[in-house]
Amino acid sequence: MHALLRAPVEHIEGGDQLAGDGRRTATAAAVLRTILDHGPVARSTVARLTGLSAAAVSRQSTELAELGLVRERPVRRPRPAIGRPHVPVDIDTRSHLVGGIHIAVRHTTLVLMDLRGRVLAEQRTPHRDPAAAAVLTDVGERMASFLDEHTCGRRPLGVGVATGGWIDPGRGVVVRHTQLDWRDVPAQAVLEDRLGLPVRVESHSRALARAEQLIGSHHTRARTSMVHLFVGNVVDAAIVTGGTVHHGPRSAAGDVSHLPVGAGPTLPAGVCRCGRTGCFQATVAEQALVDHAATAGLLAEARFPDVLAALEADEPWAVALFRERARLVGRAVALLLDVINPEILVVAEAGIARRPELLDELHAEVADSAHMAADPRRTIVPSSFGTRTLGVAAGSIVLHEAYARPLELRPSPART
Ligand SMILES: [Zn+2]
Repeated sequence: MHALLRAPVEHIEGGDQLAGDGRRTATAAAVLRTILDHGPVARSTVARLTGLSAAAVSRQSTELAELGLVRERPVRRPRPAIGRPHVPVDIDTRSHLVGGIHIAVRHTTLVLMDLRGRVLAEQRTPHRDPAAAAVLTDVGERMASFLDEHTCGRRPLGVGVATGGWIDPGRGVVVRHTQLDWRDVPAQAVLEDRLGLPVRVESHSRALARAEQLIGSHHTRARTSMVHLFVGNVVDAAIVTGGTVHHGPRSAAGDVSHLPVGAGPTLPAGVCRCGRTGCFQATVAEQALVDHAATAGLLAEARFPDVLAALEADEPWAVALFRERARLVGRAVALLLDVINPEILVVAEAGIARRPELLDELHAEVADSAHMAADPRRTIVPSSFGTRTLGVAAGSIVLHEAYARPLELRPSPART
């Protein structure tokens, strides 16, 4: 048996049930979160920061240490200190790890992360066959050997599966992924059966919004009002209000693929599956950029990694193309800011991850298009995870659950 996360994944951010077990969970989560943000940290500081009593923090730290989530970090002193030794506590990054599987349109990314969200191992493989059954079979096999190879005595808490499109985490099902042509795929059940570990499935945008809250940069950490926008081959969004990620009925929230963005100076308005032209996804998706580069004779072999490589090599056509994309993304961002008015909007996009100055284009477009946005440069920030966005999306699903409800972890033997 492995460590178990027992309760369903939905609606765990809010502290709305504060009686009995709910209060214990909230207290443990607050202590653990404070240690993540400030560790190594003295228990007395944790008490001050959380407003809990010293006794409560001490009791909670002991329980979290028994679960292998925190550990004492003795500080070396030049000479023995007078009185009780000061032993700070920190997150235990050596006992457990979390796994992640990100399923993109053309490839799968496997990741293992420690409890501070640091990537321990990552592996990307193209799909042999994009059909759901083939992808889940292959990925189950690969994750099993990936865990055997890289856990090094750490116990896996579970595996998160992140992908685009409409995901129902409550049922562990990919309801609809248009580009992969998947419908009602029970990814959680299939992979739990194969791996013998708890598996959680979530939209990559919602997973990334929570990752930003938990392990993001100082711009995004602990934000309670946020929109996370993911722009890849799929575009989608996650909306955070009052600290909670919005799901909506059957978790269908966040589909921004049909926001009207029109066309760029050279990029044509994409023809969308919905019958219209100029929809956000159809116009700015990776495939749209590849098609344009091929049609315009800029790129002989039409593959997105080649378009990215051209950007990294500062080829003028590629820089211009991503600048145009940033402008079009800016139009969708302006609409989202006007409708939702979040404190902060995070953009995960491959061009900006490689050339941060492309964000200036996006800011300029928002300044032109939005009606009520505050200073775009303060409101719109890039993803904290750069080119590792996909792996972090998947790995952070179980990480988030461990931090939200740490007492529901159950000790398990090490994987050998
Ligand atoms: Zn459309």
